[in-house]
Amino acid sequence: MKEIIDYILELIYPTTCGICGKFCKEALCKKCEIKLKKYEINYFKKSKKGYFNESMHIFRYEGIIRDKLISYKFQDKAYLYRTFSKIILKNEKACDFLKNYDIIVPVPIHKKRMLTRGYNQTELVAHELAKYTSMKMENKILLKRKNIISQSQLKKYQRKENVKNVFFVKNIEKILDKRILLFDDIYTTGSTVNECSKVLKGAGAKEIGVLTIAKD
Ligand SMILES: [Zn+2]
Repeated sequence: MKEIIDYILELIYPTTCGICGKFCKEALCKKCEIKLKKYEINYFKKSKKGYFNESMHIFRYEGIIRDKLISYKFQDKAYLYRTFSKIILKNEKACDFLKNYDIIVPVPIHKKRMLTRGYNQTELVAHELAKYTSMKMENKILLKRKNIISQSQLKKYQRKENVKNVFFVKNIEKILDKRILLFDDIYTTGSTVNECSKVLKGAGAKEIGVLTIAKD
């Protein structure tokens, strides 16, 4: 039944390349895939100071990557999750990184923001990544208790304070001794993922890796 629905949906709303807008079943055409290479950094780092153990960022946050991430997050372009998922799944280094983890946890948004935006951009991609890897996606473990001012609207030095005590963990038994991949769209100061890692580690997670699409 699901296949039939998918088939009909594809006829009415054919998938397009999220970058150039041309029809493309894959959500990312060959031309754009090549075009995006110039933003690719595949920046990997073991973390000594933070609460997470290692991190990887795929692109520099600029040009078309920046434009598309802004559209994805703030301009209702939810369908871009397909393109971003495709980009990650086609990236060998990212896939190698994903293999080290049992669970993928999207950085949460507050329920009020979920109501106005209609989707959590990190969750849509995390869900797709879990489909094609051995990780399980868990979106009911890490939650946000306060609807804070968006980090993107604050100066870098204000961001650490802004996310303090904002996240909490539920269903602790699911993360005990597990390797968790925290997924977010953009990494700027690292305050958000660090705060998330702090509560996850505090609740018993064994290891935490951070993957973001871009690094500012
Ligand atoms: Zn394209």
